[in-house]
Amino acid sequence: MTTKPAQVNNPSWRALEPSLSEVGRKYPNFPPAVLLKTDVQRRGVTYSPEALAQVDPARHMTTIRSNYYDSDRPIPISLTLNDGTSVYLEGFLADSHREPYLVDHDGQNAYLVDQGQALGQVTYWEKPAFYDKRTKSGKPMWQIVSARPQRHTIHPKQYCDFWKLKGQGCKFCAMDANYRKNRKDPRLSIPDIVETIAEALKEPGSSQSLFLTGGSLLTLPPNQKSPEPLSGALSEALPDPLEGELELYLGILKALGALFKSPKFPSQLIATAFNGKQLKRLYDETGLMSYTADLEVLNERLFDWICPGKSKLIGYRGWKERLYRAAEIFGPGNVNTGIVGGVELARPKGFATEGEALGATLAEAKELIENGVWVVSCVWRVLEGSVFFGQKTPSLDYYAALSLGLNKLRQEANFSVDLDNYRRCGNHPDTDLARA
Ligand code: SF4
Repeated sequence: MTTKPAQVNNPSWRALEPSLSEVGRKYPNFPPAVLLKTDVQRRGVTYSPEALAQVDPARHMTTIRSNYYDSDRPIPISLTLNDGTSVYLEGFLADSHREPYLVDHDGQNAYLVDQGQALGQVTYWEKPAFYDKRTKSGKPMWQIVSARPQRHTIHPKQYCDFWKLKGQGCKFCAMDANYRKNRKDPRLSIPDIVETIAEALKEPGSSQSLFLTGGSLLTLPPNQKSPEPLSGALSEALPDPLEGELELYLGILKALGALFKSPKFPSQLIATAFNGKQLKRLYDETGLMSYTADLEVLNERLFDWICPGKSKLIGYRGWKERLYRAAEIFGPGNVNTGIVGGVELARPKGFATEGEALGATLAEAKELIENGVWVVSCVWRVLEGSVFFGQKTPSLDYYAALSLGLNKLRQEANFSVDLDNYRRCGNHPDTDLARA
């Protein structure tokens, strides 16, 4: 088996943007491993037959059930660079505008290769022992909890109700497409989750944190039960459409709390932006230590365009107000908001230039941090099945400048990034800079 060859739309793409080494020279203090990771996340990877021949499904992590990607093919889920930097790929194989990196193997080690040059040694993520076990209900545990070197991830709601409402899903998001392709249960059961986490925690040193996230759960009018897009508007929703999502997470977190001796346990929840009363219940009634509600893009006009459901339900300003309330409740450093770095340049309504996008994003991040909420970014992977599929992501230079800018803002404000850093998450180039 070989992985799919890259479809490069523009064969001269290299001449149109600065290379990895040029960006490295421009930002000499940017750690080379983090820069390489950023570019690999931006361009994707493909595997040589020799590299795939070294994948051992008994030892390596090749199965995943997540929001945007499900796989049980013998392909590594993600990679680790030899300085310990995680390259979270979740099966992302190729960007459609640029050639992906090649993972090759010389019989001894695996390497990331570009234009014939080996740039960094990598290892495939190891599979934890619980992946091969089943819950009492008969479910494979790898389908209940997914592992990273840093943490255990639970996706309790594997469908997002914004997709039930015509045109309301976020335009970069592939959750709806992934759900339809894999026909999985939209909800996990709490006993399955608790049993799997209890099993996972038996493996010493396996987890710095428990992480929960899933699609939004909206209490919608009774005719909107199926995942088919319906014509209803969010204004038809019942008065407090997020109570169901709140109850889901309260139930899971309370049940998980029984596994720990301390009242609080290392944990992060990414959820829809709850109101103050709901946030207080989350903090007071569970062991949850940190909270995230993703704005996705730091501009009101673009938020309205890219995240229409979130915009209609809560609005950009309302979302920010809820984050500020969360920061008061959970305390300094314990609340952040995620952005899909680069989506602010999506066509046709995004910023016209990378310079304009960077300035606007960092200015807005400054305001958020002044109100107790820090910003963490992911590299935008243009996912098949998303509305934005086929769009072109920004240059590596843009991502380096964005990471440096976000890191500088947090350092100036003396904000800890422990809740989402290389030890607890490993996905974000900007929080990798906290290692320096
Ligand atoms: S809220 Fe937006 S990004 Fe999140 S799962 Fe729903 S559609 Fe996707």
